[in-house]
Amino acid sequence: MKRKFKRVLSTVILAFSAVVLTGGPALAADKPHVPPPFIEEDVALIEDSARQIHDVIDTIDSHVDIPPYYATPDADPGVRGPMQVDLPKMREGGLDAAFFIVFVPQGDLSEEGYAEAYRAAITKFDAIDRLSAQYGDAIVRADTVDEFETAMHAGKLAAMIGVENGYAIGENLDLIDEFYARGARYMSLTHGGHNQLSDSSTPRGALGQKSTETLHDGLSDLGRDAIAEMNRLGMMVDVSHASNQAAVQIAQISKAPVIASHSAVQGVLDVARNLSDDALKAIAAGGGVVQVVAFDTYLKAPEPKRIAAVMAIGHEMGLTSREAFRAASQETIAEFRRRSQALDSQWPRASVSDLVDHIDYAVDLIGVDHVGISSDFGGGGGIIGWDDASETLNVTRALVDRGYTRNQIKKLWGGNLLRVWREVEAAAD
Ligand SMILES: [Zn+2]
Repeated sequence: MKRKFKRVLSTVILAFSAVVLTGGPALAADKPHVPPPFIEEDVALIEDSARQIHDVIDTIDSHVDIPPYYATPDADPGVRGPMQVDLPKMREGGLDAAFFIVFVPQGDLSEEGYAEAYRAAITKFDAIDRLSAQYGDAIVRADTVDEFETAMHAGKLAAMIGVENGYAIGENLDLIDEFYARGARYMSLTHGGHNQLSDSSTPRGALGQKSTETLHDGLSDLGRDAIAEMNRLGMMVDVSHASNQAAVQIAQISKAPVIASHSAVQGVLDVARNLSDDALKAIAAGGGVVQVVAFDTYLKAPEPKRIAAVMAIGHEMGLTSREAFRAASQETIAEFRRRSQALDSQWPRASVSDLVDHIDYAVDLIGVDHVGISSDFGGGGGIIGWDDASETLNVTRALVDRGYTRNQIKKLWGGNLLRVWREVEAAAD
C-alpha cells in the first residue's frame, strides 16, 4: 500500500517536473535524448527528477555474481557487509531486483570436466536456494514475469537466476531442463574459452586455444540444439562471452529474442569481449536486448601503469590467479577492491559517464528498446560512481543528465528485459 501511494505521488510530481524540464507536455517516450537547455535551477530539478524516476520505476541488474558459500555467515546477503550487493545495499540504492548468477569456470572438454562443472553449478543453485530460505520475505524468488511484478507491487525485492557458461551441461541437453526446473531463466553458452557449445570471445591459452583460432566458426551443432531446447523451455539465451560470430548466429537461429546479460560495445572500446555493431544489430533485429555492463576495462582502455599497480596489490595479497580470487574471503576481496580504488586519484577507472557513453552508442545504433543495464558486481564489475548496489541512483542521475526521459529510463532499467523475458515465455512450447 505504502509503495503504491509513493508511486502515485511520484507520478504526479514526475509529470509536473517533465513539463517544467522540457517546457512542454511529456510526449517524451521515443524522442531522442537531447538535453534540454538548462537554467541554473534546473540542476536541482535534475536531482529531484532522478530520485523521483528512480523511486517510481522497477530497476533490474541483470548480472550479479555470488560465491559458492553465498548465504552462509561468510557471505551473508542480509547484512551490510563486504559484498557489492546485499539486501541493505539494494534498499539503499533503490535496486529492486537482480539476476543472481550460477557461474562455472571453463575447464577441459572432457567427461571429468563436465562432471566437475555440473557440481559447481549445483553448488551455486543451492546457494541461491539458501538466499530464498533465509530472506524469502524480503527478496522474493521470481521465476516468471508475473511473479516479478507481484513482488514489485508488494514492495519486495526480487531475485532471479541466470546461468553463466553452458559448459555446465556438458553434452547432456536434459541438464538444461534440470537447470530450468531449479529456476534458471537465462543461460550463456560460454565464458572464457571455447567450449562444446560455442566459440568464446576470449579463447583460453590454458586450454590450448590460440587467440586467433575458432573452434566451431561460431556455434557447434550441440550449441544449436541447446538453443532450441532453451527456446522450447522458455529460457532466455545469453550471448555474453560468446564470440561476435557466435552472437550473430545465436540471435539469428533463436526462435525467441535473445539477451546479452552483461556486455559493452566495440563501437566505443574495441576489445574482444565487447559486442560488434553486427552483433548489436542482430540482437535488436530479433527483438532482443543488450544489458550494457559496468565493467571498468570493457568501458575504457586502462592505463598500463594502473594495471601494473593493481597486479602488484594482487601479488602482495596472494591474489594471483582466478582460482585464488574464487577461494578468497569476501573481506579479502573487498580489501583488494578498496586498495585498487585508491589508485583512481592517479589513474581513474571508467566512470558512470563512460557507462552511459556505451549506452548512448547502443541506443543510437539499435534504439532505446534494445538496451539495458548490468553491473557484473561480484564478478569484476564496478566503476567510479557505481561500485556497489548502494550507488545505483547515480546511474539514473547520469541518464537524466544526458536527457533520457522517464519512459526511456524505465526501459533501460529493466522494462526492455522484462519485455524480452515475456516474449521468451510466450514462445515456449
Ligand atoms: Zn561474465
